[in-house]
Amino acid sequence: MKAISVLGSTGSIGTQTLEIAEEFPNQFKVVALTAGRNLPLLVKQIQKHTPEVVALADESLLPELQERLNSLSKENRPNPLPELIGGTDGLNTVASWDHADVVVTGIVGCAGLLPTLAAIKSGKDLALANKETLIAAGPVVIPELKRSGSRLLPADSEHSAIFQCLQGTPWAENARLSTGTPTPGLRHIQLTASGGAFRDWSIEELEKASVKDATSHPNWSMGKKITVDSATLMNKGLEVIEAHYLFGLDYDQIEIVIHPQSIIHSMVELADSSVLAQLGWPDMKLPILYCLSWPNRLETSWRRLNLTEVGNLTFKQPDTLKYPCMELAYSAGRFGGTMPAVLNAANEEAVAQFLQEKIHYLDIPKLIEHACEKHKVDIKSSPSLNDVIAVDKWSRKEVKIQAKKSKYQIPLSGL
Ligand code: NAD
Ligand code: MG
Repeated sequence: MKAISVLGSTGSIGTQTLEIAEEFPNQFKVVALTAGRNLPLLVKQIQKHTPEVVALADESLLPELQERLNSLSKENRPNPLPELIGGTDGLNTVASWDHADVVVTGIVGCAGLLPTLAAIKSGKDLALANKETLIAAGPVVIPELKRSGSRLLPADSEHSAIFQCLQGTPWAENARLSTGTPTPGLRHIQLTASGGAFRDWSIEELEKASVKDATSHPNWSMGKKITVDSATLMNKGLEVIEAHYLFGLDYDQIEIVIHPQSIIHSMVELADSSVLAQLGWPDMKLPILYCLSWPNRLETSWRRLNLTEVGNLTFKQPDTLKYPCMELAYSAGRFGGTMPAVLNAANEEAVAQFLQEKIHYLDIPKLIEHACEKHKVDIKSSPSLNDVIAVDKWSRKEVKIQAKKSKYQIPLSGL
């Protein structure tokens, strides 16, 4: 029986993790939860999973949560009631909860940074969904992992695919640890990308892209922020940086290929030119389950992959003009140090502004590029946690200032 702590339990990753826990009651027990603002759903989750502790990011909502639990009838009230805590300390407590064996990081954005570090420092294994944390703070996270011995198990489907392929190699032991150590014999990886909401749109048509268009993903059902990141292909760019830190690869070893069917979840090319791939329906439950069951595999009754039903698997090069965010991410990754933190924070803020309809879709890469350009003179190559937090704050502020300018005012020049 593995005890699980779920950060961001009300989101897409969080709810799918809880569904897995329900499906395998003899394997997993949910002992700790954190959530943002969705109290009705959180109460249902507490009723079903009876966690020992629950943290709310926004402390001011704690009395309302307490009241909702108190007002449940005796038969419906969880017994015992969980300990309720709030704020950053609360999130950190849940992330390092004594009784938890593995922490699923389903918080979106750099808000997951401190809880992730708390989990690592307490030696927990992590099912890493919250990629923004590793991207922004790789130079801080990787040394902490090495110190604490805690393991990063990738829940992102592409990185899970790579991780799964590497299990069958003589270097599996190395690949298991996922602490940024180069895996010998691993020549290249290919991250597959669906192409997102705009994969069939021309560059000219993107002038008309609305929030509704950008948040309708053809293959995956996910939170809003990552769905927009998939439309801009920033998600794949962030995943390139994520792969760099997880598998210790140089950026030249990481390629992106557009694969609209999302059946091959990524591929590894080995020293002898053999290519291994992991296939499955586009469903995040499998990579989450693998993090929780690793190194074992659990029997499921999930729909079997039927390639004759899929018919065609197709591949093409990503269009760098249509998806400038992808190149911005490669460039920030190559700069290293604090640059990926600036890129990530600028993207979070630009996407938030876009979702609030304050900027146009095409402004997103321009705002990100502006922040990265401006940061070039201030890059710190071996940043501390405080450096990362400071540049994250600076980058968001910079984007807010620039976003006030009207559409298309910011020139896109190339980093
Ligand atoms: P989501 O928006 O559906 O859920 C986010 C969760 O985080 C919610 O529980 C929300 O309450 C909580 N949250 C939001 N802001 C917070 C804050 N400031 N402090 C504390 N909690 C906060 O997002 P998601 O799609 O589940 O994505 C979560 C993470 O997983 C992201 O980093 C994303 O990139 C990654 N990921 C998601 C998928 C997917 O299929 N959804 C796939 C791969 C990776
Ligand atoms: Mg992914």
